[in-house]
Amino acid sequence: MCGIFGYAGEKRDAREAVLEGLQRLEYRGYDSWGVGVVSDDSISVDKHVGLVGKDAGTLPKSHIGIGHTRWATHGKVTNENAHPHYASDKSFALAHNGIVENVAALKSSLQKDGYAFISETDTEVIVRLIERRRRTAKSLAEAIRLSFKELEGRNTIIVLARDGEIIAARNGSPLVLGIGAKSEIYLSSDVFSCAPHVKSILVLDNGEMVTVCDGEISLVNILTGKSIKPVYEKNLLKDVSVSKGSYDHYMLKEINEAPFVIRQVVKESDAKYRALARAIKKARRVYTIGSGTAGAAAAQMAFYLRLYGGIEAKELIGAEAYEYKSLIGKGDILIAPSQSGETADVLEVLELAHTRKATIASFVNMPGSMMTRLSDHKFMANAGPEICVMSTKIFVSQIAWGYLVAKAVEGKLAEGKRNLKKVATEVEKLLADKKFIREVKDHAERLAHKEHLYLLGKGQNLQIVREGMVKIIEGSYVHAHAIPAGDLKHYAITLMAPDVSVVTTISNDEVCASVLNAVHEVRARGASVFGIAPQMNENFDDFLAVPDTGETSAILNVIPLQLLAYYMAVALDHNVDKPRNIAKSVTVK
Ligand code: GLU
Repeated sequence: MCGIFGYAGEKRDAREAVLEGLQRLEYRGYDSWGVGVVSDDSISVDKHVGLVGKDAGTLPKSHIGIGHTRWATHGKVTNENAHPHYASDKSFALAHNGIVENVAALKSSLQKDGYAFISETDTEVIVRLIERRRRTAKSLAEAIRLSFKELEGRNTIIVLARDGEIIAARNGSPLVLGIGAKSEIYLSSDVFSCAPHVKSILVLDNGEMVTVCDGEISLVNILTGKSIKPVYEKNLLKDVSVSKGSYDHYMLKEINEAPFVIRQVVKESDAKYRALARAIKKARRVYTIGSGTAGAAAAQMAFYLRLYGGIEAKELIGAEAYEYKSLIGKGDILIAPSQSGETADVLEVLELAHTRKATIASFVNMPGSMMTRLSDHKFMANAGPEICVMSTKIFVSQIAWGYLVAKAVEGKLAEGKRNLKKVATEVEKLLADKKFIREVKDHAERLAHKEHLYLLGKGQNLQIVREGMVKIIEGSYVHAHAIPAGDLKHYAITLMAPDVSVVTTISNDEVCASVLNAVHEVRARGASVFGIAPQMNENFDDFLAVPDTGETSAILNVIPLQLLAYYMAVALDHNVDKPRNIAKSVTVK
């Protein structure tokens, strides 16, 4: 969700460097964008609604600039509201990620002091606060620091000063500083966006502010103003590719990376899995937590922990953990799978748990995230960037990881790793099977024109059909509804009638018979059933054969559902990689 970028260096034209950075941040989701550069001691700004442009329009050549992709929260999607926002005297321009929660109080106090507002954004309040502080503060940096302290909520800002200084402060969405060749300096919301150009990175913590001036970097604690020694890390993502390759969409490329991401999970050391397994076994209460697709992954992990680990694990949805906040405390463990490691709803619960001395474990894809920093047990997905807003490969890696952690708790880590290697091979074969892909595509083209779709699942397949529902809703905007097979007769059976389509994924496990029972009931009401299973059943109107991989069959079953959602979105001619209204990393509440 939204992005910030900054560049200072002799090597590149700042306009191009910033535009390239914004393009690499596009996947996070945005509605408008802007670039600001300094030349001849003055700032020029170019702002637009819509997609990041290919050239910098009217901006002058420069070596210092900032950029922003906006996800509007306060004020309409217009050029005026897009960032960066100028100071009244154009001595600086500012871009902002987040929401100023005390905007009303700050605005009225500024208005009382005679400050006027041009845009509808909460961002402009920060600009005016800095202007007010600037009247007495000893420097612009000090005015920014003091103003930033007045903000409530999760906010990250970047300020470009007329004299070529760039100042950025973080108390919310991520902020990374990267150092490139010939003392080029990059600032960005994520490492991937500047990775090819930087040797080392500095991940800012909440409450830190950095000033970049003439190639010098200084870091301070926002609360105290005291300087902090920056700790640089080597950039391990230098060669990471963000290209689509020969695929039509990132989504398809990423679905095809499932075997790779499962193998990455297997590669992690046994010692780390065992340490987490010990922590889970001795915990007073075990929670898994996530939002959206990661919420389904967290629920699948809790299922595995209950089934294989014999642990009473409870899944939480990030934004719906309200009543748990009073329960979480010392002795508990919270386990969070997350693509970005920055999801605000989840972070809020983890931060609270951290202050109450609960143990935290995370499985994150984006390096340098807040969740990783908060964690006692830090796992990385190492899955490479996931560009499509809809998560596919990361979900697969999250549930594979959840399965392996549960197997470690069971004391069968080696068996778990063997099973995952096997499922990776089976998924690989499936994805290479042209007949299989054609069949999924045919079914997708048929189902894309339905008004409603129902998905039935149970046991290890329950969260899988739920995730299938999420993918279908996200990509094709078709109304989908996942029903626990056992609950069908308690309510959703009323909806079953001729012309109604039901999709189910089934494994050869103890609950198979009971799902088939539900299928039977659906059929009896005239609805038609598309079964994805190891073998045909007389009650399936349509059937897609998948291999039986036993304990890991749910991990395999999600692949045809992801493909189904993909081809449905393609059949409807939707913007597959960027569905309407949703953002990838939701860093605001
Ligand atoms: N709240 C700000 C706005 O609506 C910033 C949104 C963002 O993070 O992009 O302009």
